[in-house]
Amino acid sequence: MKAAVFDGPEKLSIQQIPDPVAGPNDVVVDVVDCGICGSDLHSYLEGAFIAPGQVMGHEFSGKIVEIGKDVQGVKIGDRVTAVPLSTCGRCPRCLEGATHLCEIGLAESVAYGLPGAFAEFVRIPNVVLGGNLYKIPDNVDDAAGALVEPLAVALHAAKMSAPGPSDTCVVLGLGSIGLNTVQMLKALGAGRVIGIDISPVRLKLAAQLGADITINGREVDALEAVTEITGPGAYGVGARADIVIEASGVGALLNQAVSMTRAGGKLRIAALYEGDVMVPANQIVQKEMSVSGTFAYRGEFAQVLSLLASGRIQAAPVITHTFALDDIEQAFRTQLDKDVSIKVQVAP
Ligand SMILES: [Zn+2]
Ligand SMILES: [Zn+2]
Repeated sequence: MKAAVFDGPEKLSIQQIPDPVAGPNDVVVDVVDCGICGSDLHSYLEGAFIAPGQVMGHEFSGKIVEIGKDVQGVKIGDRVTAVPLSTCGRCPRCLEGATHLCEIGLAESVAYGLPGAFAEFVRIPNVVLGGNLYKIPDNVDDAAGALVEPLAVALHAAKMSAPGPSDTCVVLGLGSIGLNTVQMLKALGAGRVIGIDISPVRLKLAAQLGADITINGREVDALEAVTEITGPGAYGVGARADIVIEASGVGALLNQAVSMTRAGGKLRIAALYEGDVMVPANQIVQKEMSVSGTFAYRGEFAQVLSLLASGRIQAAPVITHTFALDDIEQAFRTQLDKDVSIKVQVAP
C-alpha cells in the first residue's frame, strides 16, 4: 500500500510498504480521512515523539476491510474511528481508569510505534467496540469522523474544567483545539466564553461556534481586555475569570493565563510548548488556583459522536482543507500556516 513515511525533520516521502494484516484481535481499516494534529507538526518540524520510518496520522476515519477472528460486534464495511492510544490494562493508571496515562501501552500506539493512518490502510490492534473502536453514525460524515479524536481532546479539556452556568471561561488560542474547546464548554453549559487569538478568521469562527466575546490579542492587550470584562483580580492583580484554558502553546500567554484566573479559579493547559516556560508562581500560590495539564482523552469518544450526531457541535466549519496523500507535504505546510488553515485533513 501507499503510505507517507517520516524520514526526518521536514521530510515526508510517499512509499510502498506492506499492507497491514489483522491479527486475531485486530481490524484493518481502509482510511478515508486523516487529520494533521498539532503534535504532528512538532514531529514534522523537530522529530518530536517519533523516530524516522514512522507513518504518522492518528485522527482518522474509514471502513473496515478485515476483521480478526476473535473481534466481536463489527462487520466488513462498517464506518469507524478509533482511539490510537494503546493501553496495557494492568498498570496502576489503567486500573484506576486513566488509561490515557498508561506508561506501558502508549509506546505501541497507532502512529506512535505502530504505523499510523497517513496511508491507504491502518491496523487497529486489540479492538474493543466502544473501548478503542467506535462506529460512526449515518448522519456524521467521514471528515467529521476523523475529527472525533481532536474533539475528544477538547471535550476532555472542557470536562477537566467542569464549567457551570455562572462561570466566565477564557480560551487562549483558537486553533483546532481552542475552537473545539469553545464548542465543548458551551455544550457543557458554560455561562460565558471569551475567545482570544490574533487571527480575524479564527475569531470570527469562534463567535460562530458559540464564543460570547472575542478578543484580538494583536489589537489590544488580552489581559487588560479580560480584566475590563471580569473586573480586577485579588489585590488588584490581573483579572478574575473562573476558568482559563490555555490552548495557544505560546509561553507568554501561559504567563498571562495565570494572571487572568481568579482566586480559587481553574487553569487548564491543553497546549504543548517549545522549551520551558516561566510562570508567575506566586500568583498561583496566593490565589490558591488549581492548575493542571489536560492530555488526550479518557473515554470521551462516545460522547463526542453523540454530540456530533445531535448537531450540538459542528465539525465542518473547523475542517478548512483536504489534500490527497501524494500532496501530504503541501498539507503539512498548509497546516503550519495559521492565517490560512484550522484543521487540514488528508484523504488517502
Ligand atoms: Zn492529535
Ligand atoms: Zn497501563
